[in-house]
Amino acid sequence: MTFELSIDLEEWFHAELVRKYNPIRQKQAVQATAPILDLLERKRAKATFFVLGEVAEAQPDLIREIHSHGHEIASHGFSHKRLHELNPSSFARELELTEQALFKAVGIRPKGFRAATFSLDQSTAWALQVLTERGYDYDSSLFPGSTPLYGVKNAHKSLHFANQSNLTTPKERGNLVEAPMSVASFFGMQLPVGGFELRFLPYWLSKKALENSERQTGFAIVYLHPWETYAKTPRQLKMNPIDATVTYYGIETGLEKLNKLLDDFEFTSTLTETTRRFKKNQING
Ligand SMILES: [Zn+2]
Repeated sequence: MTFELSIDLEEWFHAELVRKYNPIRQKQAVQATAPILDLLERKRAKATFFVLGEVAEAQPDLIREIHSHGHEIASHGFSHKRLHELNPSSFARELELTEQALFKAVGIRPKGFRAATFSLDQSTAWALQVLTERGYDYDSSLFPGSTPLYGVKNAHKSLHFANQSNLTTPKERGNLVEAPMSVASFFGMQLPVGGFELRFLPYWLSKKALENSERQTGFAIVYLHPWETYAKTPRQLKMNPIDATVTYYGIETGLEKLNKLLDDFEFTSTLTETTRRFKKNQING
């Protein structure tokens, strides 16, 4: 049984739906992350933090703090541009800048990557080649389902070797492991676990989705952002009502839901540990 907790460490103003309104860049990642670190410590849980390079560069102490608690530090790119806004060389540059910022902060090189806004799809799958060339062990950018913002319909839902030419069919062997987001089939619906859905759905439904996902694929992953568990996240005014709901709904209860998840599930391994175990089993088995 493998349950993974992944946290995309960025500022509230990096979120896709907020970014388009040119918000005031009022930093609060440190304040928003501190309660999460306390909670993880209390519950003896481990998480993988996908850190945005801009945040690591501006607040290296925060990254040191996270690292000192034994959590994995992975890359979330540098500026939170979606892969659709990049090409192989500007993407490689984003990776490099983030690697430098993380190395400066904690002296490690990230082994995993998650694209801004799960922007991996067939048109941006070239990114997998860039990650392989730069020696990454795994990618966690694939969202196997379709939503208005992102997703690849019929993409493979278990851990698998990434296949650049066809995201819906895993490779038999490879270097880069794909750790897709959990999307569980439930009452005929496709439910992801994390982010807006975790805030929006009643807790029991998210719990069921996580259990179902693990049962269906042998692996389940939750994702969230510190800003969406922090009641004092600045409000971007003048948003349209749908964007405002998706961004802010249930922020006050985000931390409480994380607390419940930590009570009900054991999050004890990082994504590097889990994807390496997968690779070893594939090679030996
Ligand atoms: Zn993000």
